[in-house]
Amino acid sequence: MHHDPATDAQRADRLRASGMRVTAGRVAALAYLESHPHSRASEVHAALAQASPSVSLQSVHNIMNDLTEHGLLRRVDLPDSDGALYEIEHLDNHHHVQCVVCRRIEDVECATGLAPCLTPAGPAGGEGGSRMRILEASVTFRGICADCEQAA
Ligand SMILES: [Zn+2]
Ligand SMILES: [Zn+2]
Repeated sequence: MHHDPATDAQRADRLRASGMRVTAGRVAALAYLESHPHSRASEVHAALAQASPSVSLQSVHNIMNDLTEHGLLRRVDLPDSDGALYEIEHLDNHHHVQCVVCRRIEDVECATGLAPCLTPAGPAGGEGGSRMRILEASVTFRGICADCEQAA
């Protein structure tokens, strides 16, 4: 895996700006997820292991957790995916649509405006309701992609 040095320098800047030490593994994980959003830790591990075979799956899990805690990655849990998926955090509160057949995942725009783009019709936040201030809505749309529809 070869990266443009300028781009890796920018990734290193992002790590430093988030208070993290710059390591080759963290930079490589960010680079991989930029081109492969919604990847599992095991997929990131497979990609990183091509360049450095000694990297362990556990260390990649640690990288994913550290990057997520520091706000550089977003962890996505979708009902039809077993296990966590990761993508670069863009602070945009986008949602996901997942094909029920092949499980391909795509980003979709916020339903409307800024987070939270949806507010519950029920009591949360309302009078007499729970004392939850809604921060964001996380919506998974389920659909069928054009390829699967054609194959059916
Ligand atoms: Zn599909
Ligand atoms: Zn996404």
